[in-house]
Amino acid sequence: MFLPLLVAATISVAATTTDLRDLVAAVGGDRVSVESLTDPRQDPHVLELSPRQLVRLREAALLVRIGLDHEPWLRRALRGSTARLRDLDLSRAVTLLGTETPRLRAERGAHVHAFGNTHYWLDPENARPITAKILDELAAMAPKDRDAFAANRARFIAKLDAGLARWKAALAPHAGARVVSAHDTWPYFAHRFGLTIAATIEEHPGVAPSAAYVARLVERMRSAGIRVVIGEPAASAATLARIAEQAGARVVTLAPSVGADGEATDYLALFDANVRRLAAALGP
Ligand SMILES: [Zn+2]
Repeated sequence: MFLPLLVAATISVAATTTDLRDLVAAVGGDRVSVESLTDPRQDPHVLELSPRQLVRLREAALLVRIGLDHEPWLRRALRGSTARLRDLDLSRAVTLLGTETPRLRAERGAHVHAFGNTHYWLDPENARPITAKILDELAAMAPKDRDAFAANRARFIAKLDAGLARWKAALAPHAGARVVSAHDTWPYFAHRFGLTIAATIEEHPGVAPSAAYVARLVERMRSAGIRVVIGEPAASAATLARIAEQAGARVVTLAPSVGADGEATDYLALFDANVRRLAAALGP
């Protein structure tokens, strides 16, 4: 019976998103076993964990999550769990944007950015402090593996730095470009690459726009000469296409998370795909 020994040799981690799963794997390597509790092709607002994912969560030694109000389903998923789960809330690792947003509807428990914008993994620079926190957490759980975790992280950071140089160069010609996005997913990405999110199609995060709001938005887009609408798989393609057509803009669909589409195969590929699509959309 050597199987329990093998299981004990790795740290079992439940990450709430595929992006965090990849960053945990980048640091933990073969010393962790990590799974995402969510599939980015699901609508996070109506998420229900599968029985298998619930078991995964309850058997994990470490929970790694986005924090704020990004995982409104988590409290229910953890109800009745007696496991002593370590909890790594990575919103504490980064500088948040959107914290001045009025705390409307926080009591509904939905994903409405009530405590700041939660999409911080979309600034690739944030992978630096995030992986540093993950390294500290894993090393606290397995002190003898700290050097291995540090070496894994250093390899990842080298690739991240190469990616950042590539992505900044590709988007540099479009610095200052103003775009409209479906959900308020991209402020961290825009901040890193010198773009401006002029407006969102959702009037408030997680709330569909009124007809009057859409009419004003189209008017503003026309007068400001905004030519690109950033969509994502969970947004209504028909609504985006209609608004873009009325405003004389084009829609580019970006991947908001690893695995949201076939090109975003890992954390670095996510930015390769998004930067390439966005540069093409902003071009002539
Ligand atoms: Zn959001």
